[in-house]
Amino acid sequence: MILSNSPNPNLVALLYADWKIRIYHLEIQNSTIRLFARITGKRSKCPNCLKSSRSVRSCYFRTLADLPMATNAVLISLWIRRFACTNPNCEKRIFSERCSELTSPYSRRTERASLYLKQFIIEISSNKGAYFSKLMNIPISNNTCLRLVKSMAMPVDDNLLCIGIDDWAKRKGMNYGSIIVNAETGRPIDLLNIRDSGDVVKWLSGHQEIKYVTRDRATSYASAITKALPQAKQIADRFHLVKNLGDAIQEEIKLEYSHLKEVAKNIYEAIELKKSRKVILEARNDVQDNVKMEMSSVMIQKREKLFQITKMKKDGHNISDIARRTQTDRATIVKYLEHGIPSTRTRSTRVNYNRYIAEINHMVSLEINPTAMFKSLKNIGLKCCERSFTRWFNIKFHDYQHKWNRACHEPLKITKPQIWINYIPPLRKLSIFLTNPEYGVAKDTGECSKEKEIVDVLVNEIPLLSSLRNLYINFRNILKGGCHEKLDIWIKNAQSIGLKKIDRFCNGLKKDIVAVKNAITYNWTNGLVEGNVNRLKNKKREMYGRCGFQLLRRKVCLSVTG
Ligand SMILES: [Zn+2]
Repeated sequence: MILSNSPNPNLVALLYADWKIRIYHLEIQNSTIRLFARITGKRSKCPNCLKSSRSVRSCYFRTLADLPMATNAVLISLWIRRFACTNPNCEKRIFSERCSELTSPYSRRTERASLYLKQFIIEISSNKGAYFSKLMNIPISNNTCLRLVKSMAMPVDDNLLCIGIDDWAKRKGMNYGSIIVNAETGRPIDLLNIRDSGDVVKWLSGHQEIKYVTRDRATSYASAITKALPQAKQIADRFHLVKNLGDAIQEEIKLEYSHLKEVAKNIYEAIELKKSRKVILEARNDVQDNVKMEMSSVMIQKREKLFQITKMKKDGHNISDIARRTQTDRATIVKYLEHGIPSTRTRSTRVNYNRYIAEINHMVSLEINPTAMFKSLKNIGLKCCERSFTRWFNIKFHDYQHKWNRACHEPLKITKPQIWINYIPPLRKLSIFLTNPEYGVAKDTGECSKEKEIVDVLVNEIPLLSSLRNLYINFRNILKGGCHEKLDIWIKNAQSIGLKKIDRFCNGLKKDIVAVKNAITYNWTNGLVEGNVNRLKNKKREMYGRCGFQLLRRKVCLSVTG
């Protein structure tokens, strides 16, 4: 169906008022509105010499895609006149008239349609862009999407107060670029293809208005900033400072870890002894529980003897000597030294089956019979008899239907329950507990986890751990506090302890002391840059790492949504 009509002047005024064109005809065909228009005015300026001309030589139609109207695509057929340049000195003989408000030279879309496309193509991949452009009735190909993005101008900001600079991996461990972020707006301003001084110095030299630069602890950026912007204040990143100290603490614990294990074991055993003594005292008051009291006092005697034996062994006495002094059989002494505290004998031990619930559920899903289940669980540390397990299992899974032939045909992947060896958390976890006193405390109830309780006891008992925790907390408070004089005192204190790794951290601080003190004084942070590096990684992955540098640069700096 073809509809031809003279356009409504009010509608034209509403939709196309800004353009110096006159729409003289309108056609609707297959969901496409075609507007026939011509540029108003009898004259046109030569783009080369800017001399006006009214000498028309020929004409042609130029088709431009515009923004869609309702569900219809809109095409403008623009009647273009070719003028002869009347300037005898001008190189151009013939030129086409231009309408800069409407479109740019050689473009196949109106300026507003291009702008609209650019705004969403910058946020998504070119394939998605091509798909959505078809849905929106301004169809373009994926290659055109890329061309549009590459034609976008980079933002120009000449009024920078504070910037953040950091590196990003083009290929991890191989080559790196730099990202520069406006710290006031949090928006990336530019990407550099390199992180070495040369290009960074060149970029910074063009922005002498910058007063503050936040950076990580890398020396290459420090020297580049000093060279290009000697007047700017450099601010070290607070996150990296705290992290570096955390790493130093972890390394320090690593050096002492085997010794700490020993100490922790002794402390743990002493606490256990105290606990059982307490039980006895309580039991003594309980007249009705005579039997229990007797059993426990035997245990206490045994434990006390064990400690006596262990102490004598440590003091260098041999087994015969210990046997004579403690009036104990030599075999008993050997047994005590090998196996530690004998376990308390009680009439019934409550087994925590829920500890193995993940494995049990897994085997339930495989329809394995309870006997085979018990065998598997026993292999990973369940300590009870089969009868008590099946009794518990039948209550918990009362309508369980297993297959008898599914006994042990399939090898089960069962993870061992995590148990702390030697009464101390693993190295990394210990350093987390140590540096974050809130770790292991439930936010809603304020309840402490068992691990946290043990670590707190260790911190109270072991001077090395308590001094490391104090160092960390004090350092963090100084960074938050805004008083840089305290830093010198902190460094002095930290170095007086005489720990190798902490000493090395302090020497690092001293080398970069001005930037570190600036980090305490000023509120500017490099966190925004770190966030933008994450955005950049996201963009890189979105393009499967195949995009060129210029495309990535625009995608990162011009995208609004991240
Ligand atoms: Zn000319």
